[in-house]
Amino acid sequence: MSDLIPGAGTPDRRFATLPLAEYAPIRSIRRPLTPIDRLAVPAIDVHNHLGRWLHDEGGWMAYDVGALIDTMDRRAISAIVNLDGRWGSDLDDNIARLDAAHPDRFLTFCHLDWSRLQGARPTETLIADLHRAVDQGARGLKVWKDLGLAVTDAGGGRVLPDDPRLTEVFIAAGELGLPILIHTADPVAFFTPLDRHNERIDELQEMPSWWFGGPEHPTFDRLMDALSDVVRRAPGTTFIGAHVGCAAEDLDWVSALMDECPNFNADIGGRLGELGRQPRRFARLVARHPDRILFGTDSFPLDEDTVLTYARFLETDDECFDYAAGCEIPPQGRWDISGAALPAAHLRAVYADNARRILDMPA
Ligand SMILES: [Zn+2]
Repeated sequence: MSDLIPGAGTPDRRFATLPLAEYAPIRSIRRPLTPIDRLAVPAIDVHNHLGRWLHDEGGWMAYDVGALIDTMDRRAISAIVNLDGRWGSDLDDNIARLDAAHPDRFLTFCHLDWSRLQGARPTETLIADLHRAVDQGARGLKVWKDLGLAVTDAGGGRVLPDDPRLTEVFIAAGELGLPILIHTADPVAFFTPLDRHNERIDELQEMPSWWFGGPEHPTFDRLMDALSDVVRRAPGTTFIGAHVGCAAEDLDWVSALMDECPNFNADIGGRLGELGRQPRRFARLVARHPDRILFGTDSFPLDEDTVLTYARFLETDDECFDYAAGCEIPPQGRWDISGAALPAAHLRAVYADNARRILDMPA
């Protein structure tokens, strides 16, 4: 067939066996994109990292807070939740440079020190730690996915989020007025076989330690069952499931848990690559649960173009655009996304009103 077309049919061998890592297609679709320079509604970013513990050299993630505030103002982000408060003097340091220095612009969440599980009476100790964090000014609790994958108790056993020793701790957080932003397991591709069918193969080639699909780890489903039980057992505590309820790939799962548990909410941080492949389905989730979905970027240091990508996804019906600004190879998978074009009332809820209510911020 190909020899009927002059010049075709003789690709060189290198082309025929092009390695995946070198493949960088340039989109041939031509389409208009809506000009955007700021969010339509001044927003609260409920998923961000401004502390020290994720920084390679222990420095502050947002080194220049004044410059960060300028970026926020340019893009219409009125407040950021800093999920990096940790505990003790680290929590004090985070709150002093952010929440206290810039009231209403930053809200810092604390962590729990899971090494308490190695000591005596961990439940009581962790609850006392929460009381201390509230006194220090923490506005919520971040639970990261090391709980379930890496945290162990005194006997060396792995501690899952639904461990009975933690139930009272999560109930206490609610009594203290601390919402819990919890990240369990997600994304599912980190638990599926690491082979040519894995949709996050580019990312896992870069970061092989992010794969948890081996027999030494609980399964994805076991961890997600733990997450839903945590939410059920503490009905007086408000939960925000990180990254679209920890199940951006399965919005029916998210919607069902929201149907069942009025205390379950979700932020959209870091999952435009998933949501933008199912924008109409996402818009239906928001329509069903308009009071439960919260804007978050997980972009740190806060990137101005990334903020605009969130705006394009949430506000427009633009099609076939990058979910990761400025990357030649999209980091989480080689696809484009399209916008969900949420109506104005849902934009106000997602961008600001839901967070304001959950975080008990002035209107
Ligand atoms: Zn994050």
